[in-house]
Amino acid sequence: MKITAVETFPLSFPLKEPASDATGIWHTWNTLLIKITAENGMFGIGEVGPLHGGGLRVYQALVESKLKELLIGEDVFQREYLFNKLIGIGTSSYAFGQQGAIVSAVGGIDIALWDLVGKILNTPVYNLLGGLYHKKIPAYASGFFGKNGSVLNQQQCVEEATFYKDLGFKGVKMKIGFNREFDLQNIEAVRKTLGKDFLIMVDANQGLTLHEAKMISRRLEEYDIYFVEEPLSIFDIEGMAELSKNVNFAIAAGENYYSAADFRTLFEKRAIQIAQPDIIHAGGFTGMHKIACLAKIYNVPLAPHIHATVGVAASIQLLAAASNTLMAEYIMTGGSYELRKELFGDSYQVKDGFIEVSDLPGLGVELNEKAIQKYLK
Ligand SMILES: [Mg+2]
Repeated sequence: MKITAVETFPLSFPLKEPASDATGIWHTWNTLLIKITAENGMFGIGEVGPLHGGGLRVYQALVESKLKELLIGEDVFQREYLFNKLIGIGTSSYAFGQQGAIVSAVGGIDIALWDLVGKILNTPVYNLLGGLYHKKIPAYASGFFGKNGSVLNQQQCVEEATFYKDLGFKGVKMKIGFNREFDLQNIEAVRKTLGKDFLIMVDANQGLTLHEAKMISRRLEEYDIYFVEEPLSIFDIEGMAELSKNVNFAIAAGENYYSAADFRTLFEKRAIQIAQPDIIHAGGFTGMHKIACLAKIYNVPLAPHIHATVGVAASIQLLAAASNTLMAEYIMTGGSYELRKELFGDSYQVKDGFIEVSDLPGLGVELNEKAIQKYLK
């Protein structure tokens, strides 16, 4: 079945008030959707991103001015071959490297191809990945983004945490890395509010040094933190390994790594105990499946980074099929959730802390054309 068209849809969703984390502030939530059509007229949808406040044209240019020409006329079923071809195995796209933006762009295409193959075969993507392993996926609430450039104070943290608890979530992930005492007071207030049995995780977005992470770790242990995400620079793998040996919580990372080779290094060095690859960063299903299988071999569970629209559907399909699924990240603030609802409805609601897996063909997503046109940039 030949590929006849590849189209890109750069979308920009304006936020009512700017959101922020340790990586910066954003006024718009941006993402790139990719549509791939086969000769029988059926199509699949993928996503590349996310992009806080800009950079949409980077991915679009990669797809439109290079990757597209490598796809037209090829067989939609040959995902492994096409993944290698697009990242430059035996082709001129090798010049863009095999990490970073190119892998994400190839991943967006890859997601669209798996969606398309699922639709052609009239089966959900999880059946192409080994079949259904989990009918529902535990989800934790993430967010706690700063508002209008200010980080959240205790009261705001407690309000947001209570909102998630009332929705049925059993876990939350807060932001740290701003000011040690300030961070700890926020965590203490949330722990008091949520009680002992609630999972609390924290994300430093690479904001700490090894020394700072060690200093804060004893206090984090007092609050029974389940995992600390990206405590250190993603390049300080030795530091994460050292930290892992000295603390009583898990170290988690993955949203800023792009390949199974990156995760091999993390696993070999025992630098992380929870793997958080993102399907819209790390090569779509073809890239993520390799990471998921490798994590399984190293006995590391998966709790993917998920901050997306179509990418939510893709992540859930992957987690439905993986044996080492731990939980899904669920973000309701910062723009992605609002845009997703407009694009295909609130179809991934969390009930009692779980997301139901769709059994519709492909990703199980049908996009609202009007919403695409409304946010097209
Ligand atoms: Mg993070």
